[in-house]
Amino acid sequence: MKLDIAYYGDPILRKRGEPVTEFNDELRQFVKDMEETMFAYKGVGLAAPQVHKSLRLFLINWWDRDEDGKIIPNKTWVFINPKIIDISEETFNQEEGCLSIPRIYETVSRPIKVTIEAQDEYGNTFTETFENWIAKAVLHENDHINGVLFIDRLSAKRRKELDTTLNAIKRKYYLNK
Ligand SMILES: [Zn+2]
Repeated sequence: MKLDIAYYGDPILRKRGEPVTEFNDELRQFVKDMEETMFAYKGVGLAAPQVHKSLRLFLINWWDRDEDGKIIPNKTWVFINPKIIDISEETFNQEEGCLSIPRIYETVSRPIKVTIEAQDEYGNTFTETFENWIAKAVLHENDHINGVLFIDRLSAKRRKELDTTLNAIKRKYYLNK
């Protein structure tokens, strides 16, 4: 089942997610629904608060496209109750967007490498290192479960320049005005 996206302006995007404590069928169904939603919106990542659940849970899938532009999924990584174990000092700049903030794409600086420990949807703990834009996606999604949005990581000047656009997005998508 495709889930509704929480858009910029929705207070749930600013809340710190609660830890997941029950690894049951309900959780696994929710993960499946999140996956369906992520593909439907052609996202490479999706965090639970973006679909109105304030939980420490996010997904990543660096899918490919076929000749017709259709998504060919790779493995979906499920990160539950994640802990950042290590991040590189070295950073890199790349453009980011967010399903919750349509139409805004901005260059954000993030660490080039991240090691993260998390649980999967069965409660099994794993540790994995990601690099380059996948590290960026992991850190972007990890921000979501702490109530942080990528626009918070822009310079104060740039953030100010985006104010009008952000207010327009809030009115159109969140308030439906
Ligand atoms: Zn996002």
